[in-house]
Amino acid sequence: MTLRRIILGLLICLFICSPCMQAKAQSEKDVYAERLALYKKMETITHVPWFYLAAVDTYERGLRKALRDREEAEGMISIYYAKEDWVGVLNPNKEDQNPHTIQLFEGIGLDGNDDGYARLDDDEDVLYTLARYLESYGYSEDDFRIALWHFYQREQSVNIVYGHAQVYAHFDQLHLHEHAFVMPLHHNYSYRSTWGDRRGWGGRRIHEGTDIFASYGVPIQSASYGIVETIGWNPYGGWRIGIRDLDNIYHYYAHLSGYEKGLEKGSILKAGQVIGYCGSSGYGKPGTQGKFPPHLHYGMYRDNGITEWSFDPYPSLKVWERAAKKARYNS
Ligand SMILES: [Zn+2]
Repeated sequence: MTLRRIILGLLICLFICSPCMQAKAQSEKDVYAERLALYKKMETITHVPWFYLAAVDTYERGLRKALRDREEAEGMISIYYAKEDWVGVLNPNKEDQNPHTIQLFEGIGLDGNDDGYARLDDDEDVLYTLARYLESYGYSEDDFRIALWHFYQREQSVNIVYGHAQVYAHFDQLHLHEHAFVMPLHHNYSYRSTWGDRRGWGGRRIHEGTDIFASYGVPIQSASYGIVETIGWNPYGGWRIGIRDLDNIYHYYAHLSGYEKGLEKGSILKAGQVIGYCGSSGYGKPGTQGKFPPHLHYGMYRDNGITEWSFDPYPSLKVWERAAKKARYNS
């Protein structure tokens, strides 16, 4: 009986999953389109560039996922305001939606769509409130950074949001979440899960990444869309590069033999773009190499607005590798 059920379940899955995945991809596209329309609408009203709004919203979406004391956003927009800031700290009505009394109590909540209410659960009101806040500082890149500094009071948050804005402005779209495997498939390479292993050099640190062994000079590709946040020598990582994507994940590539020409801090990248070449640099002063076999050390780090921590990249690598193989097979 149970076995029959399992088989039946599997069959149903086979029939359902494929169209259901297509539907998911389609609805994701719709969400991006709808969000972009909202950002652009606010840009028209306030003249704050849509990519500034998108950058803050994207960053806040990640914070909601990472911070336990924030519930997931119900609408399209994830920007978070505490209730008491929205209605005003001294406002006795914590659920106040009246723009006049909110203003009276010096709350920040605004009515963005002229429906007579300033509601925390109304996407347009929330986005409009943010846009007016940014506008009050001005429209230049420096003004934006200063506004962000007052909003987050953390330099790293300012840098991340500012980076997001540059990536959105560059590609002029929101749908930038595709990934690529970190090496071209036709080269010989090998890797296994080495997360948390002890390391040989630099004292008692655990291994925060996956080592992918390949020959000197094999091209290394960016796993994601994003912006170069760090580039240069590091005693552990050698010639290394760090790229921040729009899910606020920091991708770390180390031990390179060299970088792709023209890359510098602030360079904007597509998923799959070559960033450098496999090598064995590191474990010493600048230029040191050959202390271990050539490989790419690849790490992933997540930021929650307060701190940053690493997580195991092995499962992601497997997913991207499989997708690349499938794409190659289909072409
Ligand atoms: Zn490693």
